[in-house]
Amino acid sequence: MTTKVPEALASAALETSDAAASTLASASSSACSEQSPQDFLVRGHFLKEGPGGNLRAIQYRTEEYGYFKGFGHPGSGALPPSAFVEDTVFMGLHVKMHRKVVPALACVEEEIARSCGEAPYRPHALAGIRYRNTYRGGEVTNHAYGIAIDVDPAQNTCCGCVKPWNDAPACKRPAKTEYDRMAMPECWVHAFERYGFYWLGHDVLRDTMHFEFLGDPDKIRRSAADSGPVSPAPDGGIHGGGRR
Ligand SMILES: [Zn+2]
Repeated sequence: MTTKVPEALASAALETSDAAASTLASASSSACSEQSPQDFLVRGHFLKEGPGGNLRAIQYRTEEYGYFKGFGHPGSGALPPSAFVEDTVFMGLHVKMHRKVVPALACVEEEIARSCGEAPYRPHALAGIRYRNTYRGGEVTNHAYGIAIDVDPAQNTCCGCVKPWNDAPACKRPAKTEYDRMAMPECWVHAFERYGFYWLGHDVLRDTMHFEFLGDPDKIRRSAADSGPVSPAPDGGIHGGGRR
């Protein structure tokens, strides 16, 4: 039996903006590098491995994104993920994310503009970093690391979560797949997946609003050898310890 708290239940205030245009245009399409989520970070995979799988995923995130108090083993002088937060704009809305994954969001937005024209969708609310954990059972939500984003929680629900999310009419009607239970176009899911995000709609939680960056943040942009000049990697320099 799951004891999970819904991802968005204790969400930080949803942030909206009237900003007419995104400021994410800095990433040219040629600079974006496609990648898949890393298997050992996918919840459905590491939970099958028992406690060790969860601990490994936590330690990677600790080293890559910062020390969320009480979880993982930080290096000396480690800072929390909140120290690396950046306010960015995605699809016209402000959202606070870890600065390492902001370029990946820009790549997703480009992909949506390129591929999802036949299913226009304008989000009204986004939620990014969260300052307290909303998972139980020793897991940590990726919102705590600033690497997860919820898109329109009211319209894209979580049928595997607790009330009120699993009470939504969309959870009760017949549907072939989770894609049929949300307002967001399926095309958006594929755009996120192309650049290292994992959609929690695939998980038993069926959290259709939720994407988390599980790729390698050092591979969001193509290297100089691949595509010519690119921006410097937004490396946070979280601590002095080595990476796995
Ligand atoms: Zn979420």
